[in-house]
Amino acid sequence: MPSSSLTLLFAAALVVSLLVKLWLATRQMRHVAAHRDEVPAPFAGTVSLQAHRKAADYTLAKGRLSLLSMAFGAVVVLGWTLLGGLDALNTAVREAVLPRWGDMAYQLSLLGAFALVSGLLDLPFELYGTFRLEQRFGFNRMTWGLWLKDTLKGIAVTVVLGLPLAAAVLWIMGAAGDRWWLWAWIVLTAYQLLMMVIVPLWVMPLFNKFEPLADEGLRERVQALMQRCGFAAKGLFVMDGSLRSAHSNAYFTGLGRSKRVVFYDTLLQQLSPAEVEAVLAHELGHFKHKHVLKRMLGVFAFSLAALALLGWLANQVWFYAGLGVQPNLDAPNDALALLLFMLAVPVFGYFVSPVLAQLSRRHEFEADAFACRQASGQALANALLKLHEDNAGTLTPDPLYVRFYYSHPPATERLAALRAAAS
Ligand SMILES: [Zn+2]
Repeated sequence: MPSSSLTLLFAAALVVSLLVKLWLATRQMRHVAAHRDEVPAPFAGTVSLQAHRKAADYTLAKGRLSLLSMAFGAVVVLGWTLLGGLDALNTAVREAVLPRWGDMAYQLSLLGAFALVSGLLDLPFELYGTFRLEQRFGFNRMTWGLWLKDTLKGIAVTVVLGLPLAAAVLWIMGAAGDRWWLWAWIVLTAYQLLMMVIVPLWVMPLFNKFEPLADEGLRERVQALMQRCGFAAKGLFVMDGSLRSAHSNAYFTGLGRSKRVVFYDTLLQQLSPAEVEAVLAHELGHFKHKHVLKRMLGVFAFSLAALALLGWLANQVWFYAGLGVQPNLDAPNDALALLLFMLAVPVFGYFVSPVLAQLSRRHEFEADAFACRQASGQALANALLKLHEDNAGTLTPDPLYVRFYYSHPPATERLAALRAAAS
């Protein structure tokens, strides 16, 4: 392919995806604003007008911030690629590091420098989101001191866990010949499985406190449910999610010995025991229907295909030149190829997101149906509504926006399905 064709294709995908993103976001905002003053009929008795308006205002505020961050994000990708940002960074790092420290140090430094600059560019949006937007709607519990501690710990974890992986992949790319991508995939897959064991045991406790579920009555209830469903998890834990945010959640995590159920303390404060049981039954439904396994296999298959593609692209001069970078003549191009690939894949991959969202929504319906059989569907409906209200989720999203992005069906559809299952 001539490099100018790739340039044109990439620029077109970037512009079209940005336009679609902006169009969908403004549709969503218009739709929510238009329904701000009336609680939808199925919720008229249960959701107050005040809560409904708060959800609309919260959705609109997040929407305005996302318009800005989408436009900025597209400019940043353009800046890195066609406008020469990555090329300039590469030249600077190569000249500073390569003569004294060699190939591997140069490549790792390039990845590090890129991560640092990207992180700094995202920082204003992250800070505004947490300390202004979430604060204004009463969700934020984060302090500046905690934020600083989190950031430093996050960098330390990334260096300790990420650097060896990056070094291993770069070494394989340089040493394993034409089939390097197959070896890299094996290492990457093993690493991901290892992380599923390590992260719940060693990493997450660096950021949050996890305590065994103390509530006797709830624990018995939850254990009875898990036995009924034939599910063995080693532990039930309560996490101090309230440390950072008033948003609530529950999740399953881990693999093998580290497999566990985690409830946010905020969830336990908001829901009755029957509702917690129903939420857990929904999560168990994801396991029983093998959604977790399917998702994992999907990720592994995708990364194999992506690495095979990169294995081919990394040898094509037009891949670099077409995306605004001069390949090195006197040093390996592996780190450079990785970065370019990471910048380009989401631009083209955006158009696949509706398919993945559709699949995810189908899984949610299946998990809800499972929860109805194993626990109370009415309790699940109540829990969903409470969580929706406490997280200020909108009840009136734009239908097209939902089709494109929503990983969970909107509350209206989920509650209707639950009611149908109950009757
Ligand atoms: Zn779910």
